[in-house]
Amino acid sequence: MASTACIFCKIVKGEIPSFKLFENDKVFAFLDIQPLSRGHALVIPKFHGAKLTDIPDEDLREILPVAKKLAQVSGAENFNILQNNGRIAHQVVDHVHFHMIPKPNETEGLGVGWPTQ
Ligand code: IMP
Repeated sequence: MASTACIFCKIVKGEIPSFKLFENDKVFAFLDIQPLSRGHALVIPKFHGAKLTDIPDEDLREILPVAKKLAQVSGAENFNILQNNGRIAHQVVDHVHFHMIPKPNETEGLGVGWPTQ
């Protein structure tokens, strides 16, 4: 299930440090180490698979509610949810991940207590 070589599996297991935002039995969320905006988060299935098509539906269906909650907590009215599959589609890490990229405007900050690195 987990891949010993996968950096995101290592993050889930705590072998690589991360700024954890959420965890349950199927999903893990943490801050992106090279954020495209303040608060850029990644939501991943604990199940290891490189592409969306590798992940069982029961694991996948837990992901979007977490991304939605993080977007709400971030307080950003504007945000992107992004998920890349394959090199040509700009995937770098071969463990499925959904980016939640808040795009706060000039007048809004991120949510109170929303962590950034
Ligand atoms: P991709 O291009 O969709 O594969 O995005 C991979 C993302 O993983 C990039 O935004 C990276 O900054 C992020 N990333 C890579 N390694 C780490 C890490 O160790 N911790 C947190 N984020 C990471």
